[in-house]
Amino acid sequence: MKFNAWFQCINGCSGRHPLNEIIYRCPQCDELLEVQHDMDLLKQLSSEEWKALFKDRVGRHEWPYGSSVWGKKEWVCPNLDNANVVSTLEGGTNLFWAERLGNQLGLSDLWIKQCGMAHTGSFKDLGMTVLVSMVKQMISEGKNIRAVACASTGDTSAALAAYCAVAGIPAIVFLPRDKVSLSQLIQPITHGVLTLSLDTDFDGCMKLVKQVCEKNDIYLANSMNSLRIEGQKTISFEIVEQFNWDVPDVVIVPGGNLGNVSAIGRGFEMLKELGLIDKYPRLVCAQAQQADPLYRSYKSGFKKFEAIQAKTTLASAIQIGDPVSVKKAIKTLQTFDGIVEEATESELANAVGRANLTGLFCCPHTGVALAVLEKLVNQGKIKKHDRVVVVSTANGLKFTDFLHKYHTGNLEGISSEFAYSPINLPADYEKVKETILNNVD
Ligand SMILES: *Cc1c(COP(=O)(O)O)cnc(C)c1O
Ligand SMILES: [Zn+2]
Repeated sequence: MKFNAWFQCINGCSGRHPLNEIIYRCPQCDELLEVQHDMDLLKQLSSEEWKALFKDRVGRHEWPYGSSVWGKKEWVCPNLDNANVVSTLEGGTNLFWAERLGNQLGLSDLWIKQCGMAHTGSFKDLGMTVLVSMVKQMISEGKNIRAVACASTGDTSAALAAYCAVAGIPAIVFLPRDKVSLSQLIQPITHGVLTLSLDTDFDGCMKLVKQVCEKNDIYLANSMNSLRIEGQKTISFEIVEQFNWDVPDVVIVPGGNLGNVSAIGRGFEMLKELGLIDKYPRLVCAQAQQADPLYRSYKSGFKKFEAIQAKTTLASAIQIGDPVSVKKAIKTLQTFDGIVEEATESELANAVGRANLTGLFCCPHTGVALAVLEKLVNQGKIKKHDRVVVVSTANGLKFTDFLHKYHTGNLEGISSEFAYSPINLPADYEKVKETILNNVD
């Protein structure tokens, strides 16, 4: 069966552009593009047929359908030769039942979608597999692409570096100096990717990489490139499939450049249009107070949006003042009865501290989402029996420096409510026993 998808302007300008064309913005109005699928072709299969097909593929051997992104290839990027897919078996992440944390917050049905359990430790793999696969296809067709580049707050660069290394395609990453974690910095380096550590912030890196990619035959891998959104929207597919095709009441996701909240919305829209679900969840975008341009716009009823200068936040991957996908995100939030809420540094750090005591191992961005969850429960906007999914965006192991500082009380201006530290002792039975008895009831 034949399926089809193309780029189209989000403002609705006419004109379709093939997915293997090097184009990021509408030639008529300069707005972002989005991928549109031929929905009539997808409707040739019934919702039950799609469900059965997806279920059969994931985790199996047949290339490339074992990946949870490529197991839905027809819905993601049908115009791609399987031989050009660059995959590390992405997706299929755990939906963690946060029973103890839920109880503490007064919720009976709380789940954490563990998107950080991924090849490079963040959800960015889901989109990067699509983008780099399309690059491989374009190169195989003879298009002139010397390298792929991105600006990053640390996770996009890690994903780009890994996927390009898998495919043998040169990559360049633009990082804001001293604003990514050591693990994030080391990822592109160990993949042998040209790593530019620039004396600016993410928004500054973004401006430069756009300029570089305008000429020079270098392909831009940031999420204004909507191929990435197509991969990331599989987060929604996975969530409802894991609930046996039931839709949760609320989905909370931390937002920086705002591609992911838009992607999750797209995922639910597609599921509904193709009859696999019959309602929408409420979508919540969680921002760090230090970098909250969308929250400010939400407060004005989305009447206006102003970019800001983002301030330093522990949630470094969302330290963005001028988000590329803001228009898409606002449209999404309006469709999904959306809420935007924010968290202070202290709130996000202590939300991680609390959650980790229940067996999670959260990154600071997940902390933003969890702190926002707490607020919405207190405000009565989330009810006791609501089924809530918090999208955990990265693996906590990428942010051990933050956790170490949290537990040693070295986060400036933050009092660590759930801090624990190791106890130094001589190797002496009596001392060890005494200490244990003093600390265990
Ligand atoms: C990229 C990223 C985000 C933000 O996603 P956007 O699509 O930029 O809003 C959140 N958390 C982590 C860990 C990320 O890497
Ligand atoms: Zn346009």
